[in-house]
Amino acid sequence: MGAEQLIIPFFIATVAAASFYFKFLSLSGTVSAFVTGLFIWSGFGIKGLILLGIFFVTSSLLSKYKQKRKENLGEVHEKGSARDWAQVAANGGTAAIAGLMNILFPDPVWMLAFSISLASANSDTWASELGVLSKSDPISIRGFKKVPRGTSGAISRFGTLAAAAGSLLIAFAANLLFNLDLDWTVAIFVLGLAGSFVDTLLGAFLQAGYQCVECGLHTEKTMHCSKKTAQLTGHERVNNDAVNFLSGFAAANMGMIIYIVLS
Ligand SMILES: [Zn+2]
Repeated sequence: MGAEQLIIPFFIATVAAASFYFKFLSLSGTVSAFVTGLFIWSGFGIKGLILLGIFFVTSSLLSKYKQKRKENLGEVHEKGSARDWAQVAANGGTAAIAGLMNILFPDPVWMLAFSISLASANSDTWASELGVLSKSDPISIRGFKKVPRGTSGAISRFGTLAAAAGSLLIAFAANLLFNLDLDWTVAIFVLGLAGSFVDTLLGAFLQAGYQCVECGLHTEKTMHCSKKTAQLTGHERVNNDAVNFLSGFAAANMGMIIYIVLS
């Protein structure tokens, strides 16, 4: 066992613990982030951890950015800003599975799936965290009406630009880390962005939307004004975490299909 085998798990644990301390992660989020980090390191080495780190650091900082203003919009969002295990699994689950698969059945296709799922997660997180700060209200793709900022399934020009930038950063970093050719770098960027569009579609048509029975607010929360909210739209079992997981998983699978068809 080399020094790396001792130092890296300790390093991952330290980052997870620090994230708990700074309230980027809840306790369950900390444990799942540690496991996710271990899987990704085992599958893709330190380069894999760096790519995960770029997603984790930028999205954590963006979620803290202008937090006061976001708290005023927080009535719409389902959860607070400390990510729990379901949010970690939603954003890092596909990446962790790809890491595990690369240990069991080594193949370049897993690195591609890994990078695309992170590009999708980064794209979606940047779009949500920055899009919510847009000056104008977004348009829901269900009915194309203006809806309050922070509503799932809605798009704005600013949010779409943020989504493109988020995917581009991961594609660019993957290109440098894994020495990819331009074709696959572009594929990661396009599929990462596609993942966040799938996220918007599922958010609009599949995710459960609720209304408060007391104050009438439209929300993603299952409780409001200390009462259970009434479901208005979508599927009861599908929350924002499920939508995030499904969209990253779908984008990664699209990339794997293209890879298998072309090779
Ligand atoms: Zn209410």
